Amino acid sequence: MTASTEIDFEIHPSAARVPDAERERILQAPGFGQVFTDHMITLRWDTERGWHDGKLEPYGPFTLDPATAVFHYAQEFFEGLKAYKQGSGSVVMFRPQANAARFNSSARRMAMPELPEAAFVHALELLVSHDRDWIPTGEGKSLYLRPFIIATQRGLGVNAPSSSYLLCVIASPAAAYFGASKSVRVWLSEDYTRAAPGGTGAVKCGGNYAAAFVAQRQAVEKGCDQVVWLDAAEHQWIEEMGGMNIYFVYGSGSSARIVTPALTGSLLPGITRDSLLKAAPALGIPAAEGRISVSEWRDGCASGEITETFACGTAAVITPIGSVDGPSGGWTIGTGDPGPVTMRLREELIGIQYGHKPDPFGWIHKVA
Ligand SMILES: *Cc1c(COP(=O)(O)O)cnc(C)c1O
Repeated sequence: MTASTEIDFEIHPSAARVPDAERERILQAPGFGQVFTDHMITLRWDTERGWHDGKLEPYGPFTLDPATAVFHYAQEFFEGLKAYKQGSGSVVMFRPQANAARFNSSARRMAMPELPEAAFVHALELLVSHDRDWIPTGEGKSLYLRPFIIATQRGLGVNAPSSSYLLCVIASPAAAYFGASKSVRVWLSEDYTRAAPGGTGAVKCGGNYAAAFVAQRQAVEKGCDQVVWLDAAEHQWIEEMGGMNIYFVYGSGSSARIVTPALTGSLLPGITRDSLLKAAPALGIPAAEGRISVSEWRDGCASGEITETFACGTAAVITPIGSVDGPSGGWTIGTGDPGPVTMRLREELIGIQYGHKPDPFGWIHKVA
């Protein structure tokens, strides 16, 4: 969609950076997605000029006409990845090219412009290098990067995609998201569906999340931490947990293997999911895609064939699932505590990200 792969960004440094002492205080306990760095990236697209007006500029609010398309028809999507400060002092990102590729597959589904992958990665590098002092140090801490793109055409017409867009990247220092030492309890949602064939389940769009809050609230009302989504047609096949992909561990010890639901089009193709499909076999744990039903999950836990279950995603890396509840009853997975395969895989991914394990797949992208 765009003619040139050379996209320039003007640099407009902030004249009102957060003072060092205040920033250091924030970085002690940053939470998740609460605090933002001094700068952001903006880049615009329209039908005449393609990508233009790229900037690194002070973080701050937008002014948008109330008739801007995104407010009405939700033509938008986002990405999420992290930058880490490794023990050696290096600043790195984890698989940013994979996010660039997923950005473009989301763009195609949402009838929005694609961005050259190199420009996507360059924009992230600019923000991370200018705001590198905002990357907290220590295990589990990182700088969460949130690229997103919104439709900016003014008007309420619904017959065509917007003729203009604003892409923005913001960054937020992050503590470890959930403590991995504790398993979560999940609710099998039969009342609500996240995604259906032909829909936008494979796209990281806000609309999927908007439609999910009511199910997440129901899960909490049932005493659970997270919702597990089932397929739309039969409400029988496991798809995802909240905003994370899911893995089942079969067997134990040297015979352990892992299986994750195949990408049917209604699942989000997670980069953590993909990383585990590659990293687990290298540790001697075979990994496959498959189709797991609620009854296979329940019966497998009862017979001991399924020993562990966990969810995975950028924000929390790996979250152990300890127990399941649903309209027709619940069960415990293994002992209910985080299992050894779950913790081994978590340690491996974190080790690669923080640079204390080798990176055989070339996933670490050095920024500075
Ligand atoms: C982002 C996301 C994931 C996980 O993707 P990662 O690339 O691993 O962070 C899984 N499911 C949903 C619905 C998501 O939005």
